[in-house]
Amino acid sequence: MHAINLKSIASMLRAARAIVVFSGAGLSADSGIPTFRDGATGLWNNVDPDEVASIEGFLRNPRRAWSWLLQLKILVDERRPNAGHHAIAQLEEICAAKQFTVVTQNIDGYHARAGSGRVLEVHGSIHRVRCHRRCGFVATWNAASVEPYSCPACSAPVRPDLIMFGEMLEEEVFAAAEVCSLEADVFFCVGTSFSVQPAARLPLWAKSAGAAVVEVNPHPTPLSDAADYSIRSGASQFFAALCATLEAADR
Ligand SMILES: [Zn+2]
Repeated sequence: MHAINLKSIASMLRAARAIVVFSGAGLSADSGIPTFRDGATGLWNNVDPDEVASIEGFLRNPRRAWSWLLQLKILVDERRPNAGHHAIAQLEEICAAKQFTVVTQNIDGYHARAGSGRVLEVHGSIHRVRCHRRCGFVATWNAASVEPYSCPACSAPVRPDLIMFGEMLEEEVFAAAEVCSLEADVFFCVGTSFSVQPAARLPLWAKSAGAAVVEVNPHPTPLSDAADYSIRSGASQFFAALCATLEAADR
């Protein structure tokens, strides 16, 4: 990682009022969580994503989808946030006087578990269930709930509170993510391949509204050319180095 880049990113952060960290599956892959939307990993072996992770599949056979998603939830409960999540939470602590928002495409809740304060989960959370008809019923998904059940208020199916294939993003959460992106002075993109719209547009909106966009990814992505900085690095390494640079300058 180039020391000059770190120094200039650190000085942009010092001058910034609003900072966004936008994270995707690559960040949680370091915790051993397979990507929800990418069929190339173990949890997806022998299952058809259309059956277990699409809303049509869920409504057709709730029991099958529920049990597969429950396996994913149990895996998430067993694994833990990695050094990247912790370094992002540490950066927020260092930037305590600024508006700091994590916008994540991940459903594992690891940012909050690592200590991040304001997290917008644009694809929902594997830790909650809700009424499919949205009558207002929401509950924690307790791993003891091994069977799908009906909404106690309106009898509609209860389903995991995450965005399945075939569904639109949650309007309210996405609108909040949009506002932060437009307000951001520095916008980090971490571990996202920009394949999932419309969330992938957030960095471009941020840039068009004047943010400096910093991409942190071991591999080039469609955003790399548009980013102000495209850092070929894992999240933990980059954010730890950035925190150290900021703290060294404070001494
Ligand atoms: Zn209901």
